[in-house]
Amino acid sequence: GGNGGKKGGGGGKSAEMQVTPRSEDFSQWYLDVIRDAELASYGPVRGTMVIRPYGFALWESLQTYLDRRFKETGHSNAYFPQLIPYSFITKEASHIEGFSPELALVTHGGGKELEEPLVVRPTSETIVNHMFSQWIQSYRDLPLLVNQWANVHRWEMRTRPFVRTLEFLWQEGHTAHATKEEAQEEAMKMIGVYAEFAENVAGMPVVVGRKSRVERFAGADDTYTIEAMMGDGRALQAGTSHDLGQNFARAFDTTFLAASGESAHVWQTSWGVSTRMVGGIIMTHGDDKGLRLPPRMAPIQVVVVPIYKGDDEREAVEAYARDITDRLKGAGSIFHDAPLRVELDDREALRPGFKFNHWELRGVPIRIEVGPKDLEKGACVVARRDQGKEGKQFGVMVDDSLPGIVAERLQEVQDSLLAAAREFRDGNIVDVSTYDELKEVVEAGKWARGPWAGSDEEEKQIKDETGATLRCFPFDADNSSAKSCFYSGRDDAEIAIFSKSY
Ligand code: AMP
Repeated sequence: GGNGGKKGGGGGKSAEMQVTPRSEDFSQWYLDVIRDAELASYGPVRGTMVIRPYGFALWESLQTYLDRRFKETGHSNAYFPQLIPYSFITKEASHIEGFSPELALVTHGGGKELEEPLVVRPTSETIVNHMFSQWIQSYRDLPLLVNQWANVHRWEMRTRPFVRTLEFLWQEGHTAHATKEEAQEEAMKMIGVYAEFAENVAGMPVVVGRKSRVERFAGADDTYTIEAMMGDGRALQAGTSHDLGQNFARAFDTTFLAASGESAHVWQTSWGVSTRMVGGIIMTHGDDKGLRLPPRMAPIQVVVVPIYKGDDEREAVEAYARDITDRLKGAGSIFHDAPLRVELDDREALRPGFKFNHWELRGVPIRIEVGPKDLEKGACVVARRDQGKEGKQFGVMVDDSLPGIVAERLQEVQDSLLAAAREFRDGNIVDVSTYDELKEVVEAGKWARGPWAGSDEEEKQIKDETGATLRCFPFDADNSSAKSCFYSGRDDAEIAIFSKSY
């Protein structure tokens, strides 16, 4: 029930109605929404954050879905220690090169200086390989498919809640295979699982593609990515899957005896999505009023708000609202195999308008309003968060058909958030064939898509000159249309997307 919450300010203006308009200052809007929707607070250490219950519930929605998908695709959960001997991190040359600027080290323990410093894991390929090399003997032990839900630390210089924090929550999948092809297939399969989650659950359209050499994971042969466009046009790398080849297997001597009797290094993958995804959902769907949550992610999918004047009306209307709440909660698993998540807002001394703002700020997809007239008619009003007044449905009967109607509305919100985000995304990707065009498009805050065959150095020049990075080579690009590189003029070009990013 709603009585567990804090007592509000009697219906007057409160801090939570002061969200900076999105159109005015996107960054400030983002921070305001996180604060006022009570998703997270800053931690005492720079770059850290406290994930509050409402924000954590969004993470749990992600976990619930992905954990099931990982298991359906053959993976088991395990847990590896957070502290890693420093020597492990140095074993794979490009891994240490990439990660050393971001490492947190433990140098003391129990009041004494340690003989060898310990790394607070930034990712676990090294310790995973240390264990895999002991667990894997023969081809019969392969494929080995594990996942862990954990926290990691990366000493990032520029931070932003959810998007880039010093400590973040993620899952990291780690797999070992007998053949190169099998590992490649696995890396591809898992980026597909992420894309499916992003689109179908988070309502976040993504471009799936391959990272450039400059942008790929330190220690990978290839990195696949899902790139999403935020409401300000900037790109967000929302998840990555790495084809690690035999790089870590060689460094850690992770070998297996093949059926032929020969010893060979295993082929590996790793893949992760983090609490960054929560930031992506905020920045994909939010509007001037605050969050707009895709129903499949929403911790509260439906809020029921009783509207009454005085104590005499209150009792009957609240009882009616409670009956509606109970009907919806008790309707079984009618929306994507789960019961509806419904809240009754029976907080006293708060005006309906205040409550509407409160739940709009928190992005609750459906609001049901009931007053004395609705009670008389045995009906209610159903309002969608993603629409204004025109989306209000009056006179919806409160009978056995109500849960089904609410589930339908939820699916409509789910679909229309995805459609709106896709329309925005597609409208802001511009094909370019010259560097001048790219500069113009990037300057306008859009994504530039064009033929690329430049060197690593040239890619870095573009970043220095425009602030845009090569987000990915999209898998769905028509590379027969890619003639010569818009920058280097070389003619072995492949279609790439460049944009500013988070
Ligand atoms: P990686 O193993 O480096 O590819 O990271 C996996 C995923 O974690 C990335 O694709 C990001 O979505 C996310 N991620 C990376 N760094 C951070 C960070 N500092 N804070 C939050 N999420 C992060």
